Amino acid sequence: MHYFRFSGSQLHCEDVAVADLVEKYGTPLYVYSQRTVAEHFQKLDQALAPLDHLICFAMKANSNLSVMRTLANLGSGFDVVSAGELERVIAAGGDPKKCVFAGVAKTEKEIEYALRRGIYSFNVESEPEIVRINEVARRLKKRAPIAVRINPNVEAHTHAKITTGTYENKFGIAFEQVEAIYERASKLKHIWLRGVQMHIGSQLTSVEPFEQAVKKVLPLVAKLKAKYNLEFFSPGGGLGIIYNPALASGDPAWWKSAAAKDILTPDTYAARLLPLLQPLGLRILMEPGRFIVGNAGILVTRVEYVKRTGKKNFVIVDAAMNDLIRPAFYDAYHEIVPLAKKKGAPVSSDVVGGICESGDYFCKDRPLPRVGEGDYLALLSAGAYGFAMASNYNARPLAAEVLVKGNRHALARRRQAVKAIWADETVAPWLKQ
Ligand SMILES: *Cc1c(COP(=O)(O)O)cnc(C)c1O
Repeated sequence: MHYFRFSGSQLHCEDVAVADLVEKYGTPLYVYSQRTVAEHFQKLDQALAPLDHLICFAMKANSNLSVMRTLANLGSGFDVVSAGELERVIAAGGDPKKCVFAGVAKTEKEIEYALRRGIYSFNVESEPEIVRINEVARRLKKRAPIAVRINPNVEAHTHAKITTGTYENKFGIAFEQVEAIYERASKLKHIWLRGVQMHIGSQLTSVEPFEQAVKKVLPLVAKLKAKYNLEFFSPGGGLGIIYNPALASGDPAWWKSAAAKDILTPDTYAARLLPLLQPLGLRILMEPGRFIVGNAGILVTRVEYVKRTGKKNFVIVDAAMNDLIRPAFYDAYHEIVPLAKKKGAPVSSDVVGGICESGDYFCKDRPLPRVGEGDYLALLSAGAYGFAMASNYNARPLAAEVLVKGNRHALARRRQAVKAIWADETVAPWLKQ
């Protein structure tokens, strides 16, 4: 469910016509619905209510301060993957004590920063990392809370670039090695074995892989809990969202349709996983990213040219892969709709950006309403891994971001000034003469 709907012939975000936002803020423009963000968090929070639990939003999906503050105000914690992200949590008004720190490459500096800020747990991904955390904690005269990220070697049946829970991936510690690692870690004086964690992949659209992975690790988790008095278990993030039909899924009636039956919802997740998790008697953490913000954002772009070649109808827009890389990077699908409904037969179209890369496209050979120069298009479900992965490739400034709540809207990030792109660069002195 989300709050991007046509009202009359105009696409709205909550109660605001997106066309009005375009007029005020320009394009390319990310638009976020605060109500959608909040409701996704709350649905998950309610589904987990029977358990002592903490949701740590995986902020790498969307780290805009307004989005994060929305979640912090609802009591969310955060899954961070760098010291920079932890600083962002603090800047957004979040609580470091509700943060877990994931990632395979934590530096000494990052570990020190996180320890000083008193994070809830390091989700560790290798044995040398545990040794390093112990060293830093000894120097700071602290005990560092950790959880080992188990790689359960379970196939998540998702895109190769977002599968993380098999031995082909760099993440976590192999299931078979985990017990011995806890044993060795328990001898380190500055390590506090606080929990166990896992993550099998992203954009999982069925509950089975979660269930399979949890069932596989449960006996081990129970054993580790008994031995080391652990406090929490995290089955991770990865809940998928609907990219297609993204627009229809904003309609409550759609959720009663046959198509909606197989969708992974917080209720399905809870119905299948709670009976497994409850008997553990552990606090349950979850680290969802996409599920919370994916359907809560769109990218709005202006049609600059329509170019017909012998074979194709190219719709050339002012957003590009530097603004939204998912189609190029993951072969991702984003539903594309004009801001104003169009009449007439659809035309098979490629929507492309202006970057000098053949991979710079948003869709290929897709039937779309006929549009022309000066029309606007919205790429739906762009709230996760959209702006967060944007770059300055081709010296294109980062897009603006807007937050909508009801009939209100506010700039959540101003459009980057072009000069800011090279503000940190210098010309070497010998080149200047
Ligand atoms: C990326 C990531 C997540 C969030 O994944 P989503 O699919 O966005 O929910 C959670 N945990 C870890 C360790 C991750 O790397």
